[in-house]
Amino acid sequence: MKIGIFALQGAFAEHGRAFAALGADCTEIRSRSQFTGSYDGVVLPGGESTVQGKLLREEGLLAPLKEAIGGGLPVFGTCAGMILLAKRLTNDQNVWLGTMDIAVRRNAYGRQLGSFRAETEVKGVGSFPAVFIRAPYIEEVGASAVPLATVDGKAVAARQGRMLATAFHPELTDDLRLHAYFLKMIEGLA
Ligand code: GLN
Repeated sequence: MKIGIFALQGAFAEHGRAFAALGADCTEIRSRSQFTGSYDGVVLPGGESTVQGKLLREEGLLAPLKEAIGGGLPVFGTCAGMILLAKRLTNDQNVWLGTMDIAVRRNAYGRQLGSFRAETEVKGVGSFPAVFIRAPYIEEVGASAVPLATVDGKAVAARQGRMLATAFHPELTDDLRLHAYFLKMIEGLA
């Protein structure tokens, strides 16, 4: 399985380690020429969504990535990656890829809860140790998307077809089940 990990900014190396541990063949993508049609799935890591969005645009990656996702390329976005996928941000004017039918609030937990852990039940995966860092949450899950997990009544993971998004960072734990779930999703087994 060939996984492309967008590596312009943020926690991309950790995703590479997680997918490599599951036997996937990972390549970091930093430029348009590296974004070939040969990936079975791509990953948008956590970090800073505004920086990532601008860099994707500057590198000429934003439009082709949006097109590829629209054409069915499986994508897994974590935290900032989820923000890039959202159709709408409730406290920010930007829309980056806008492929996923979710409205997302950035930095939604305020300063006191800058970082925290919460055990959350992820549909199709089970109880999961979710690590949140200046995290967004999903304020509205549109009709085309399905919430997969909630914390304190807010959706923190969702799926829409072959798009998977989490507000938290599974790549910062030793728990590989969400990465494994994404690989199964690519194979059509989840
Ligand atoms: N706060 C960041 C943003 O708005 C996301 C944080 C993260 O990816 N850990 O882009």
